Amino acid sequence: MPSFKGIGGILNSPDQHNMVTSKIDDSPEKNPKTAPARNWLNMVYSPSRLWENRVSWRITITVFITILLVQTSVLLFTVNPYEKEQLEGLREIARTALVSSLNDTKEQMISPLSKQSVKKLLANTLIEGITVYGLDRSAIQNYGAPILLQPKTSSSMLSGYRSVDNLHYEVLLSPGEIGRPYNIIVKLNASSVEPRVVSYIHQSLLILLLLSGFVTSVLMLVLSLWLLEPMILLRNNLLNAARNPEKPNIKRPKKEMCDEIGMAIHIANDMIRQNASNLKRLRIQTENKIHKLAYFDVLTGLPNRTYFLEKLEDNIKHKLLEKDDVLAVLSVDLDHFKDINDTMGHEIGDKLLEAIGKRLVKALPKNAVIARASADEFMIMAHLKPDQPDSSVLVEKVFASMTEPVNILHENFQIRVSIGVSHYPNDGVNAHTILKNADIALNRAKAEGRDTVRYYSQDFDRAVQQRFQMLRDLRNALDQKQLHLHYQPQFNLKTGQLIGAEALLRWWRPDSSKEGGAFISPVEFIPVAEQSGLIVPIGEYVLKTACETNKMWQKKGIPPFRIAVNLSGVQFHRGDITSLVANILKETKLEPRWLEIEVTESVFMENMQTTIDILHQLHQQGVEIAVDDFGTGYSSLSYLRQFPIDRLKIDQSFIRNSLMNIDDRMITKAIITLGHSLGLKVIAEGVETIDHENFLREEDCDEVQGFKYTKPIPADKFLTFVIDYNRNLAKNNKMSMVE
Ligand code: C2E
Ligand code: MG
Ligand code: MG
Repeated sequence: MPSFKGIGGILNSPDQHNMVTSKIDDSPEKNPKTAPARNWLNMVYSPSRLWENRVSWRITITVFITILLVQTSVLLFTVNPYEKEQLEGLREIARTALVSSLNDTKEQMISPLSKQSVKKLLANTLIEGITVYGLDRSAIQNYGAPILLQPKTSSSMLSGYRSVDNLHYEVLLSPGEIGRPYNIIVKLNASSVEPRVVSYIHQSLLILLLLSGFVTSVLMLVLSLWLLEPMILLRNNLLNAARNPEKPNIKRPKKEMCDEIGMAIHIANDMIRQNASNLKRLRIQTENKIHKLAYFDVLTGLPNRTYFLEKLEDNIKHKLLEKDDVLAVLSVDLDHFKDINDTMGHEIGDKLLEAIGKRLVKALPKNAVIARASADEFMIMAHLKPDQPDSSVLVEKVFASMTEPVNILHENFQIRVSIGVSHYPNDGVNAHTILKNADIALNRAKAEGRDTVRYYSQDFDRAVQQRFQMLRDLRNALDQKQLHLHYQPQFNLKTGQLIGAEALLRWWRPDSSKEGGAFISPVEFIPVAEQSGLIVPIGEYVLKTACETNKMWQKKGIPPFRIAVNLSGVQFHRGDITSLVANILKETKLEPRWLEIEVTESVFMENMQTTIDILHQLHQQGVEIAVDDFGTGYSSLSYLRQFPIDRLKIDQSFIRNSLMNIDDRMITKAIITLGHSLGLKVIAEGVETIDHENFLREEDCDEVQGFKYTKPIPADKFLTFVIDYNRNLAKNNKMSMVE
């Protein structure tokens, strides 16, 4: 039988609770055969369950105590009359006995009682003493035990007197009561009265207890049916709702109840159900929202990388693919999107991404999964059935969708994309590898000129591994003095004077070959250094060495010239380049005018305002600024006007092709004209032949640099080269280039 527990106990004890609900659960519908018996049992059993309930305890105790109190007070009122009644009974017995013993003779006035009858009375009745008084209240006769009561006071005459130990009772029998002309006071043995009263109290108390118990039980039974049972049901329903608000296990009363409690249960159940459905709806909404945020890109509404990866994993793990199926994964990157974003603003960038997303969705098959993986990278996944064309069809669809320019705010943007493709299962058996390989192929496509596609091959992986190895080696290269500078001279095309030298980095990487090492091209290792941030210390070394070397040459007495140092965008935006340049110039005591900083156009485009500020600070120090590889980037007039530039450096590719390719020739001419119109000097690099030189002279180019004069050479050789060159120049006193 369940023992009483407080609410806390019930709340903390699911077993207890289950026990309660399981009893409620025991519905007749479940087992029709035993149903009536159960119902009956329930009825009888119900009150016991009430002990689990505090209210029932309170009601029971209150009712019990109340009945007890009421009956006790009733008892208190009846004890006295009962006692009096007992005494009165004694008195009556004494009176009757006495009257029958009184003399009816003449001598009655002298001796109302004969000795014999007194003796009888004292022996056979409760009478222990007798005093007879005349009407004048004078004592006539006195027998037996002495009597304390005197017929003098009117009050004692009326009531009688009871001894302190309650064993004796003295009463006055008046002439009217005994029918004789005298008063008689008798002393009675009253020892039986008190036990009778006590027994009366005991009996009454027993009846009282039984009655209270009976009334309480009946009350509890009634309460259990109409009040407490429904209350427990209500409480349990609320408890269930509190424990599991979304799926509350709520019960209905066994019988429909039309009273207030029934209504309360009904309302509470409705509210619990309503609350549960609201919570469910809210949860579903929140889950959907979280799902959307976690798996979808807010801007394009397309799935994100996480979703894509999970879908890919799903396909692979759960074998959604058929036996010979192939899964193609395309990684699509927008070429130069960052530049558009930076120059045109993020609003345009966002709209562009949205438009591209829509185009891809439109162009690709319905079952293809298209996701936006990062800022400007989209991922595509599609099943290729053995009888279906290969992934090149998908690639073509992507390229075709980009042919038309995207119109945003009345501006046309011609978007080009680079694509990397990998296939499951050929290029990897798990989702991560497939994705990674598509990215590797994409990087290859970007490295090889963009606007193109590359299909993953294991050679790419090797290239990536080599890059990692290169990075590891490059970290040591600086400490182990494997990095050196070579110098390539620059000349004034009109006077033939040597006016500068470009410092170009060389890395001699030792290996186990016969030669003991090999030169690694800066074209290979500079991007690795830029990506890893190593370019910052390397660039510092280059700047310092170039300035030191130039100062050293000046000290040797050769006519001073500028030293041009290439700065990467990373250096520009990570370190404090202005202070670095100032410190190095101060340290090496090189005049700022003998230093030139070469930056490519892409540097201008990143953080335009910061770049303008930095370039102005450098320029104010007296350092010259040249735009390297001019013509390959934006070549926009607008930035040329804003930046403090001294020199445009025509990219060597234009010079190299200028004799064969009319376009490159035209571009070279245009750059020279543009530079001059802005008051800038124009230098051409990549001058390899006399024809190049003649063409540039015709076009009024100011300065030249290239293999025609010399390849980049170490500092000592460069010094010899300069001395020889200047000697020859002076000798000929005319422009003469070394053959
Ligand atoms: P760049 O600044 O445009 O340097 C010119 C490149 O053209 C040099 O290649 C040079 O050797 C090469 N060159 C010069 N004349 C001719 C020619 O007549 N024909 C041909 N085919 N090439 C010629 P290099 O030294 O391999 O440097 C390649 C690039 O590496 C440089 O291009 C520059 O962007 C980068 N680089 C080199 N040194 C540094 C450096 O110290 N710091 C930074 N950030 N980048 C550097
Ligand atoms: Mg350069
Ligand atoms: Mg260049």
